[in-house]
Amino acid sequence: MYDYDAIVVGAGVAGLGQAALLQQSGKKTLLVDRWPRAGGRLQPYPQKDGYIIENGLHIVEMGKKGYCHEMAARAGAEIEWGSWTTGGEFYMDGRWVPDAELLKQSEGVMQRFVETLTRIAAMQDADFAAWDNRSVSQWLDHEGISGQLRVLWENATMIMTTIPDADEQSAGECLYIAREAMVKCNRVLAAAVPRRGMLGITEPLTRAFTEAGGTLKLGTVADQVVFEGRKVVGVRLRTDDGSPLAGEWRFRRGTLVTAPLVVLALPVWSLKSVLDMDPRRSPLPPWWIKRIRDIEGERTGLFGFMVATRRPLYEKPNFLSALSTPRTGYPFQGYSPTAYTEDVAPKGRYVLITDSVCEPEEVEDKFNLMAKMEAHWEDIKEMFGFEDGEVEFAWPYYTTGCDGLARKPGLTGNFKPDVEAPGVSGLFFCGDTYRGRGIGIESACYSSLLCFERIMG
Ligand SMILES: Cc1cc2nc3c(=O)[nH]c(=O)nc-3n(C[C@H](O)[C@H](O)[C@H](O)COP(=O)(O)OP(=O)(O)OC[C@H]3O[C@@H](n4cnc5c(N)ncnc54)[C@H](O)[C@@H]3O)c2cc1C
Repeated sequence: MYDYDAIVVGAGVAGLGQAALLQQSGKKTLLVDRWPRAGGRLQPYPQKDGYIIENGLHIVEMGKKGYCHEMAARAGAEIEWGSWTTGGEFYMDGRWVPDAELLKQSEGVMQRFVETLTRIAAMQDADFAAWDNRSVSQWLDHEGISGQLRVLWENATMIMTTIPDADEQSAGECLYIAREAMVKCNRVLAAAVPRRGMLGITEPLTRAFTEAGGTLKLGTVADQVVFEGRKVVGVRLRTDDGSPLAGEWRFRRGTLVTAPLVVLALPVWSLKSVLDMDPRRSPLPPWWIKRIRDIEGERTGLFGFMVATRRPLYEKPNFLSALSTPRTGYPFQGYSPTAYTEDVAPKGRYVLITDSVCEPEEVEDKFNLMAKMEAHWEDIKEMFGFEDGEVEFAWPYYTTGCDGLARKPGLTGNFKPDVEAPGVSGLFFCGDTYRGRGIGIESACYSSLLCFERIMG
């Protein structure tokens, strides 16, 4: 007799959705997360004064037409959306240039753009697979795209992948993202922000799970997945007592909680904290362990600011980008959450979120990061025309692995690890580093739906 029918480890967006779907399908489900809050890499912090602070730039690909919305709807959770992105603006030669202006700058550019989009909209899944191990630069060369049109595509694919260099971006993934946006939303990139920011996703998903009778244990660390032979039988769980001894010097194994089904809704680089990855002891096949080890370092980096002011620094629900900023030299992304939904700030206050996209090593070196953040701050003051004295607060953030596995050639589509563990029964995975496509949240929810369908057969 098992304690639960299913244990889901990780209460990020993928794990929350997975747990809600399993519980609602009649499986008695336990959802655990090591952190005291649900949401994982989506961590909105509501403040007493009315601001909702996001842990970084978060905008959801395809809004109500995407997998995040579909997963939530299937779990009975309603996400209310603010505005759609109406377009893009690019920072070039010291000013913001709207996408429409860029397309009109030279003759025939718009027509060529539309022709390419028409071809992308007609692409099939097998076509993306054929481009998965080739770069965006190769695709642009193949299409003969140069000049302003190339600049426009390179901005779009940088946003799609958070990878600075088009030589390093997977063409298959970018073409898939563009096809979905074209077919479902009639544009190259479509995104929206929920009302109340990312709380508009994490709260209804959490409620959908707990109100269906699921058990949520936060502040609970999964220590090890336990097997009997080649079959999963449960997870060792522990709570930390907050003392430094617990984290650094004391070895604690936790208590076994049993279930015949375990879903690890955590990124591939966290697997070694719960799965014994030594092929001499593990029931998992050596090829799979090697593959996970090979790819777990494949991440991207970014750093930036959430800036609150008394006057809007940018007023349109647009996505803002640049291939290089004046001081950091890195690509830039940004948007104004209050232009999408006013309820993320108190009345009469405005928010802008910015970031610079870089290699993970740039973020992992603390003093390098501090210097780059200072440069980024000076860049955004110049780009958005504001002074230090106008700022209510500026919330700095940085991360590596923001969007899961870096969407480089050979790391997308079928190259991503499957949602079902090979060679053992009862072990599944979901989240943005597993099979599934799309930008961060979309890819996490896509994989969560794939995982649920596989579990249910
Ligand atoms: C700064 C930043 C900006 C981003 N911008 C965007 C954006 O604009 N658009 C977009 O689509 N995506 C964006 N993303 C990516 C998006 O947030 C992620 O793709 C998505 O949240 C991943 O969800 P997940 O459920 O797969 O994983 P996670 O959210 O990482 O969830 C995994 C959970 O597992 C838990 N866990 C790990 N190990 C254990 C353990 N041993 N025991 C218990 N629990 C454990 C973690 O605490 C975590 O809560 C951004 C991410 C960041 C960090």
